[in-house]
Amino acid sequence: MITRKSREQIGLMRRAGKVVAEMHERCRAAATPGATTLDIDRVARDVIDRRGARSNFLGYHGFPAVVCTSPNDVIVHGIPSDRVVLAEGDILSIDCGAIIEGWHADAALTVPIGEIDAESQRLIDVTEASLWAAIEQVVEGRRLGDIGAAVEGLAERAGFTVVREYVGHGIGTAMHEEPQVPNYGPAGRGLKLKEGIVLAIEPMVNAGTADTETLDDGWTVVTRDGRRSAHFEHTIAVTEHGPEVLTLP
Ligand code: MG
Ligand code: MG
Repeated sequence: MITRKSREQIGLMRRAGKVVAEMHERCRAAATPGATTLDIDRVARDVIDRRGARSNFLGYHGFPAVVCTSPNDVIVHGIPSDRVVLAEGDILSIDCGAIIEGWHADAALTVPIGEIDAESQRLIDVTEASLWAAIEQVVEGRRLGDIGAAVEGLAERAGFTVVREYVGHGIGTAMHEEPQVPNYGPAGRGLKLKEGIVLAIEPMVNAGTADTETLDDGWTVVTRDGRRSAHFEHTIAVTEHGPEVLTLP
C-alpha cells in the first residue's frame, strides 16, 4: 500500500530530516584520517540523543549501529568498527536516519577523507548530481521510471554503473515503505506520483562493474571488482509546489 502524507505528517518528517542533516554534518567533520568508523557512529548517536530522536538503523534486523559506514569498495551497509581506520585518500559513504514522534527520515552521502584522487572525486560528484537529477522528477504526474532514468542516464553518460540490487523506497511511519524506487528506468513507466507521496531516493554508483557481493558478516555489500562506489540519498516529499527535500539542514 502506498500512503500519502498530510502536511502535518510531512512537517514531522521534516523535523526528523533536520536531525539527519545534523548527523551528516557532524559525521562529515569527524571523517578525517586516523578516525575509525566507530568514531563516526558515536558522533551520530550524540546528535540523536541530544535532539530527543530515535534511530531507525539501530536494531534494524539486528544492525548494531545508528549509521552505516561504507568505505571505498563498500557500497552500502558497512558496520562501524574500531578496527576500520580511515586513511588519507579514502572515500566514505555515511547512511543514517532518525525518527521523531514516529515519523522517519533517511539520507546518505559520500565524503572524501583528506585529499582524494580526481577520479574518486568525479565519482562522488556524479553520484550526487544523479540524485539531484532524480529529485527534479519528484513532481505530481511524473512516474517512478522517470526518477530511475534520470539517475541511470547521468551516471552512465559519465562512464559509471548503477547498482540494481538495492533501491530507494517509500518512507513514513516505517523506514521502508512501498513503493520500491529503482535507480534505473525506463522513463514514463511505473507509479504516477501524487501530492503527499514521500520517497527516499538513493543512487549507488560504481566506478567499475555494477555487480555486488555480500561479505560473510551478512551486511557489508561490496563491489565485485573491488573498485570504488558512492552513495547519496535524500528523503523527498511530492508537494503542490514541487519536490521538497526533507533531509536538508
Ligand atoms: Mg534508504
Ligand atoms: Mg539510507
